[in-house]
Amino acid sequence: MSDMTVFAKGQAELVEVRPGVHAWVQPDGSWWLNNAGAVTIGTAQLVIDTCATATRARRFLEALGEATGMMPKLAVNTHQHGDHTYGNSLLPGTTVLIGQEKMREGLRVDPIIDGCPPFWSPVPDWGDVERRLPDVTVDDALTVHLGDRRVELRHPGGPAHTTGDLIAWVPHERVLFTGDLVFSGLTPLVFMGSVPGALAAIDWLAGFGPEVLVPGHGPVLTGDDIGRVLDEHRRYCRLVLQAGADGIARGRSALDAARAVDLGEFAS
Ligand SMILES: [Zn+2]
Repeated sequence: MSDMTVFAKGQAELVEVRPGVHAWVQPDGSWWLNNAGAVTIGTAQLVIDTCATATRARRFLEALGEATGMMPKLAVNTHQHGDHTYGNSLLPGTTVLIGQEKMREGLRVDPIIDGCPPFWSPVPDWGDVERRLPDVTVDDALTVHLGDRRVELRHPGGPAHTTGDLIAWVPHERVLFTGDLVFSGLTPLVFMGSVPGALAAIDWLAGFGPEVLVPGHGPVLTGDDIGRVLDEHRRYCRLVLQAGADGIARGRSALDAARAVDLGEFAS
């Protein structure tokens, strides 16, 4: 499936990973450069995540509109982070937006959309976006019906990447949109969730048996690459947990413990 590997340098790209199932992939997947997607069946469309800035969200929604000739009836946010949600206000006003209960609260109180701290340099310019919160919230599970197809929205059961994660599983096409529970080829980020929870979520994701996995950041995965990247996440989470345990045992500060880690295979 190397034709689906679009992760060269350059522009974002809309990839039809299965008939009616699109992934929007933004190289190089680093800070604020997320993936999004959509499922389109008959006359019904579900969008999965938006993008960080007005320009990027418009680019995604215009490419999707050109490819499908459709206005999204429904949309879902995989989690609260701005790279996946700040573009929500660019969705049509009639689109019903879905999110996990804790995700909605997280975006409601998110301060970064109102003024990005100079932690990132250059500071991103969101453009003309407004905070737009989900209309419908889910605690654990919700099934969206698009014509005769199902899209299953599921919460991993506890904190993982964040406290309000949702995945979108398209069982008929065996496509799994994981949000930021998976970073392919990039360092996983768990600073607003739980490392043990993120580790447990990897087994939970593998249990769906996806043929195509659309991660929150990085290239779309198929075939053996899915298991390979999930194994990398397992090893990386264990490395972080071990580093924490070692640091506590030696009475080190978190920063000193982090500095002492031998990154091994993850050094790059
Ligand atoms: Zn995230």
